[in-house]
Amino acid sequence: MSTVRTRIAPSPTGFLHLGTARTALYSWAFARHSGGKFVLRIEDTDVARSTQDSVDQILVAMKWLGLDYDEGPVYQMQRLDRYTAVVEQLMTEGKAYRCYSTPEELDAVREAKKARSEKPLYDGRWRPEPGKTLPLVPDGVKPVIRFKNPTEGDVTWNDLVKGPITINNREIDDLIIVRADGIPTYNFAVVVDDWDMHITHVYRGDEHINNTPWQINIFNALGAPLPQFGHCPVILGDDGQKLSKRRGAVSVTAYQEAGYLPEALLNYLARLGWSHGDEELFTAEQIVTWFDGTHLNKSPAQWDPAKLLWVNAHYVKTADNARLAKLVTPFVRAKGLDIDERLADICGLFKDRCETLVVLANWVSAFYGQVTPKPEEITQHVTQAIRPVLDSLSQSLSSCTWDKAGIAAAIKDVLTQHGIKMPQLAMPVRVLVMGTAQTPSLDAVLALSKREVVLQRLKSV
Ligand code: GLU
Repeated sequence: MSTVRTRIAPSPTGFLHLGTARTALYSWAFARHSGGKFVLRIEDTDVARSTQDSVDQILVAMKWLGLDYDEGPVYQMQRLDRYTAVVEQLMTEGKAYRCYSTPEELDAVREAKKARSEKPLYDGRWRPEPGKTLPLVPDGVKPVIRFKNPTEGDVTWNDLVKGPITINNREIDDLIIVRADGIPTYNFAVVVDDWDMHITHVYRGDEHINNTPWQINIFNALGAPLPQFGHCPVILGDDGQKLSKRRGAVSVTAYQEAGYLPEALLNYLARLGWSHGDEELFTAEQIVTWFDGTHLNKSPAQWDPAKLLWVNAHYVKTADNARLAKLVTPFVRAKGLDIDERLADICGLFKDRCETLVVLANWVSAFYGQVTPKPEEITQHVTQAIRPVLDSLSQSLSSCTWDKAGIAAAIKDVLTQHGIKMPQLAMPVRVLVMGTAQTPSLDAVLALSKREVVLQRLKSV
């Protein structure tokens, strides 16, 4: 049995798109599940739009998601000699030919076919056939190279996601495989690469489904073994339209910056288009164990920000405090604040009320920066009647042992002394010290605050 080899082949023309991240995840999981190999290939033949910056962003995003690859990154632009050699082979075998049609001629053919309600396919004027006289080669026109697509018969494959698909060769024309500038087109380079890299399973977005018949014909012309193809349906936004930049975040990086945990995005992406029973929460290890290429959805998945938040909240809540501290640090530093050794415990105290690291960072900043209680909360909770109690509390807190037990005892003394109940004191203290009346238990919050900061905030209003 041949070893499973999968790949992800992003074009470096922007950030790692969520759709690409999802097919990368499926390809990775399937390779890991099968004890195979996962390859990263950078499809940079669109020279005008490809950038190193984009390559870097893609590599960072893959690493952040934990999608480690066994080979690559392989850059297509470093393989031009190989594509040239394969094109020469096809030309020698009469399976590819030079086409000198100018863009104007091609436009005219297209328009004429459209006018006759025909599919605007290439008219084959430069396609050599036995007994056919080709036009004279014009001066000054750089030719493209076209693949001599079969004119008869069907292309059929059993799609790993969609099931059997059949396209008649009359529906497709002679594809340009090398542009006039000598650079191969996507549909050709992808075949040579998948062949050379011994790829066995191709998972990709279904925007490529129309390309697959051409690719299969080229594989066959080269005598190369066919990989299996699986086309995952598009991801729709909550308005039912294809997820796009105009409608919100579409890149892995944007979610990292918005305070999502990598395992949450991975979990959510896996579930978006694949299922394992009723499971909603699973680790990367479980995805690898369960992902055998089945149970992939045939119909488009809808991006659900609320569900992603729920998944993220789960992972924030269950994350180790020290790790959370590390993850939240850049968000806190971005506010111009310095952190210290209290950070992990602060994360531990607040993590079960935070859906994202951004929310956690907001809580954390109450300990390292300033707080600004809302005027209406001050009016509601910091009443004239409570001010003498706050003075007593300040006094007790200035000399008690500064830990949770010491602070709890000091608070209890003040409550007894003034004959009031905990909420009457806790609410104004929370508003003054944390800037809001909704916090975890007061003694725990105060113990993680600095004594001088608490005393100063208690008399700040
Ligand atoms: N470069 C293509 C893309 O980013 C890859 C398609 C494929 O996986 O074959 O869409």
